[in-house]
Amino acid sequence: MTCYPVKRDLLIKYAQECLNLFELVQDTPFVLRISKQSKKNYATGCCRNGVGYITVSYNRFRKITPRRQKEIIFHEVCHVVDWRLAECFPKSWKTDRWHGKHWKGLMVQVGLKPRTRYKIRKKRRK
Ligand SMILES: [Zn+2]
Repeated sequence: MTCYPVKRDLLIKYAQECLNLFELVQDTPFVLRISKQSKKNYATGCCRNGVGYITVSYNRFRKITPRRQKEIIFHEVCHVVDWRLAECFPKSWKTDRWHGKHWKGLMVQVGLKPRTRYKIRKKRRK
């Protein structure tokens, strides 16, 4: 299986690029962590007390192309934005905290299909 580099600087750049698309909350500070332990998910994203947290699985990310890595970072930033908007507008924005209609709408805003499953392409046997 091909392995791709997992570069923190680049992932942070993707996250900021996505966040910039949301003018109201583009100043949301965030912490991006690359975990070598996490095996279940590609990444997770949430926001607490105005700080976004994105955790990326190193083991999973190294198996997907940079293009897909970027897509997943955008996916996670949409979670962060969903949570943040709920903090900013508690009366009008109720976060689904998952892949509900708000999150889906945010994904469409950044020009992506609201997908929740990402497959690792397995190398064919010779
Ligand atoms: Zn998600």
